[in-house]
Amino acid sequence: MSEIETKKKARILLTLDCTRNCKLCKNKSKILSEAIVLEHLADPILEDYDEIILSGGDLASIPYALFRALLSFRDKRCYIDLIRITDDLETIMKFRLIYGITFYVHNPLREEEVFSIPKVTKYIERGWLPGPNKLLFEYGNGGRNNPYFSEYCKFFNTTSSYKMTALQECKIPTNEDLFLLSNQ
Ligand code: SF4
Repeated sequence: MSEIETKKKARILLTLDCTRNCKLCKNKSKILSEAIVLEHLADPILEDYDEIILSGGDLASIPYALFRALLSFRDKRCYIDLIRITDDLETIMKFRLIYGITFYVHNPLREEEVFSIPKVTKYIERGWLPGPNKLLFEYGNGGRNNPYFSEYCKFFNTTSSYKMTALQECKIPTNEDLFLLSNQ
């Protein structure tokens, strides 16, 4: 197997539940029909992947399942996708099982989401998320013009190892394979 092939990433959707209703959501697109269905996270097919991206849905709505997944992949490099930080997520962060985070900022911003962003920057500053970490956002009045949001964009933008990108479409990168837990 070539070096490129051994670096494949597995993106696993742990839940499809989400209270947002984004037009671009991958979970409504045909991408989902191409996902490989897993009965459980101990499936040997995942052994070949060096990097795991745990995604949803809103992972903050399933903290215990997320924690169990992070423990089961603790020998791999684990990334997670989040849209908000809750008290349970704050506790999970302290275990330092997560390598990098992609925080999605939606438009319009909800208060809970605005106040989640400084928590993410705090984890990065403390070295809990070695990264790369990404802040992905939708353009629009609810996001870009929000004063809190501008401040956090500056944090990500002025720190070379963090990447800020405009969220324009929701698609699975070509170097990733998509998995879905069968109970979804
Ligand atoms: S927040 Fe994410 S999972 Fe939820 S609807 Fe939007 S794109 Fe989909």
